[in-house]
Amino acid sequence: MRMLRLDLVSVRLTDPVGGAPVEIVRLAELRGPMPSAHEVCEALSQGFKNDSRKWPPLLRNLMAEGDVSIVPLPLGLQGELGVIVAAAERTDFPRQTEALLLSVAANQASIGLQGARLLSHQKRVASELDQRVVQRTAELAAANEELKKELAERRLVEERLGQEERELKRSEVRKAAIVDSALDCIVTIDHEGCITEFNPAAEHTFGYRRDEVLGKHLADVIIPPSLREKHRQGFARYLATGEARVLGKRIEMTAVRADGSEFPVELAITRIPLEGPPSFTGYLRDITERKRARQELRRSEAFLAEAQHLSRLGSFSWRVPTDEITWSEQLYRIFQIDRDAQVTFEVIGTRIHPEDLSVFQEHIERSRRDRSDVQLEFRLQMPDGAVKYVHVAAHIRGDHGQVEYIGAVQDVTERRSSEEALSKARSELSQVARVTSLGVLTASIAHEVNQPLSGIVTNASTCLRMLAADPPNVDGARETARRTIRDGNRASEVITRLRALYGKKEPTIESVDLNEATREVIALSLSELQRNRVILRPELADDLPPVTGDRVQLQQVILNLIRNGSDAMSSVDDRPRQLLIRTERDEDDRARLTVQDAGVGFNPQAADRLFESFYTTKNDGMGIGLSVSRSIIESHHGRLWATLNNGPGATFSFSIPRASEGATSTDSNRDIRTPDVTDAA
Ligand code: ADP
Repeated sequence: MRMLRLDLVSVRLTDPVGGAPVEIVRLAELRGPMPSAHEVCEALSQGFKNDSRKWPPLLRNLMAEGDVSIVPLPLGLQGELGVIVAAAERTDFPRQTEALLLSVAANQASIGLQGARLLSHQKRVASELDQRVVQRTAELAAANEELKKELAERRLVEERLGQEERELKRSEVRKAAIVDSALDCIVTIDHEGCITEFNPAAEHTFGYRRDEVLGKHLADVIIPPSLREKHRQGFARYLATGEARVLGKRIEMTAVRADGSEFPVELAITRIPLEGPPSFTGYLRDITERKRARQELRRSEAFLAEAQHLSRLGSFSWRVPTDEITWSEQLYRIFQIDRDAQVTFEVIGTRIHPEDLSVFQEHIERSRRDRSDVQLEFRLQMPDGAVKYVHVAAHIRGDHGQVEYIGAVQDVTERRSSEEALSKARSELSQVARVTSLGVLTASIAHEVNQPLSGIVTNASTCLRMLAADPPNVDGARETARRTIRDGNRASEVITRLRALYGKKEPTIESVDLNEATREVIALSLSELQRNRVILRPELADDLPPVTGDRVQLQQVILNLIRNGSDAMSSVDDRPRQLLIRTERDEDDRARLTVQDAGVGFNPQAADRLFESFYTTKNDGMGIGLSVSRSIIESHHGRLWATLNNGPGATFSFSIPRASEGATSTDSNRDIRTPDVTDAA
């Protein structure tokens, strides 16, 4: 504008993409207020329509201040790029050089614009291309993904199919293995009753090969001719009506082998759950053995029952945790209890003799607690009042939770009455023997000692008489005194001889285990104790020191203490007749044995007299047991004593020093002797 001294320049560029044109207007600086660029362009474009060559050279009144000379300069050959308008108020505008300059400038601008347009077009095309490429790539990627997914799905389906196929094959192999190795015969038939499968067990049992029987009618193969018609009818009925007599049940029937032999089978038939015409599986088992075993069992049961009946012996089992009791036939008979009644301890209790009930219950409780074997005798009382004696022996079987007593009960009433008669006879006999031997002893003493005694008396009187004479006959008196001494010595010799005659053998000295000795005594006295309803509780120490002495003598002492304890409880009925036998090592390392009863006890004032010979409070007592016992224990360097219990009853104990190590028995116990009646006396 400054170079050509223009007053106005306007540029209008058409948008190649069809948007609004770009319009720029510049006015000389010194001019007054400016119309807007748009207004100027509007005003100009009024005149220059499309073809710039037709534009007038001058335009007037453009800015309401007078004429201006206008030079339109088209951009592009046809002005398709737009138009530049230069204007000046000078009337000589444009001069020739100015026109040239303007047209060169317009051409330069056109070239630049065209270049720019081309570039922008290229850019646009390139960007469109890029976009299309991106879009296509995305489409392709998506398609690819889709394809991949499809492929993966197909592979999955294929895999699953393969797996199912393998599973099916495996299951078929398994089923075949089961069928082939089954111990039972497995035969399948179709809806016509024809064999479709025949397993190895069936081949073995019936004596046919599988390929021989496939397709044959089942009835013709394994059913005896006499039953075939029935089988056919049953099969036809099922097909016609669906009514099945054998389906789903276990039945026993007769079957036939290839060689024509018949045998019992157990049969179960099931329908194969498949669509289409029905088919069936039959399971058959040869039960020849089972039938035989059953028959034999019945026979042996009958034998047993008969034997139990004859021997009056019943058997039982008692499951301790549940108190389930099972009885043999004979036991119901012994107890006279209805065969259909359920056996419980309560029911059993109604048959136990009232006096034996507490002992019985005590034994049950003890067995439940200690789980040790049982040996027991007690009485039953029948509803008619008759009394029976029974002996029970039972041992325990099984472990925790399954503990069970298996035992036998024998009616020993007859044996018991003969035993009692025998024992009575024996005790009478022993009493007689004792009295007799004492009588003999006394007679012998009397007989043997009488003579020296009368000699002594005669000599002593003669001596007195000789001393009383005047003068005293001293020599005579001395002689008679000597004779007195001689007779006295003879009497003493007689007694020594008698002692040797009536005394026992020499004692045997050995190392004695008091526990073992005690156990033997218990075993010996058990039946007597049971008869007296005594509950024996042994508590034998594990660490008991051995003692040295005469085993038999010590056992006599133990036996005597047990018998005394039992005797002391014979009148006790209001409490259990408990007898405790305990062995223990005492403070001085001695072996101690204690027998504690729950009997009547003794009068404390008579405590010292208990051990005296011939002291007894019993009608049939001898009163020498304790005194002999004490002398036996003392000869073993021990001590025997009695105390009263805090509760009812008395306790008798002895203690003996332990066997000294290395000492020979004869050294340390040289002076153990055999006490006897005369000794105690
Ligand atoms: P006996 O054979 O006469 O019983 P013992 O010497 O064995 O002779 O006993 C003497 C006495 O001592 C008995 O008669 C009895 O009075 C008493 N006696 C013995 N043991 C016991 C005991 N365990 N409880 C109460 N008194 C007893």
